[in-house]
Amino acid sequence: MNKACFLDRDGVINEEVNYLHEADKVVLIPGIAEGINRAHDAGYLVIVITNQAGVARGIFPEGDILLVHREIERQLALAGAKIDRFYYCPHHPDYTGECKCRKPSPGMILQAAADFDIDLKSSFMIGDRPSDVRAGENAGLAASYLVETGYGKEVVSRGEASGFTVMATPLDAINDFISRGQ
Ligand SMILES: [Mg+2]
Ligand SMILES: [Zn+2]
Repeated sequence: MNKACFLDRDGVINEEVNYLHEADKVVLIPGIAEGINRAHDAGYLVIVITNQAGVARGIFPEGDILLVHREIERQLALAGAKIDRFYYCPHHPDYTGECKCRKPSPGMILQAAADFDIDLKSSFMIGDRPSDVRAGENAGLAASYLVETGYGKEVVSRGEASGFTVMATPLDAINDFISRGQ
């Protein structure tokens, strides 16, 4: 079986921009390419798991998500880094009803596990919101980190990160998990 590093997108791979949907606003988080390469070198697939409710809300068309992902891939490639697969949830319960993919539901992680034959108990999640951490917990991952990039700093300062494993950056979280030797 395979193991994976699951990454939230906005605030983890790229700087948080509210309802980011324009490729020219993609700015990578410092150290993320290095972190992705570190995870790959340690034998982890790197998979993006992102809520994109802007589609359900009618803020941007679904095709914009793919353009943003292409731009993320382009910028990462300049640093020699690669994402194995992007999964996104375009839904929002108020507009499109309940779904099984929107974090904190584990649906996208479970789908990735089925697609890539991933052992969830050897895998980990990194996100900047409580819903990211909960999605990882709900999927039964070995660890789920909250990072202080994106919205994470605000989450921590509001005291909403109690009980979570908090790291300053995604690179720190990747190094922490890999150094555990799992
Ligand atoms: Mg985020
Ligand atoms: Zn969904």
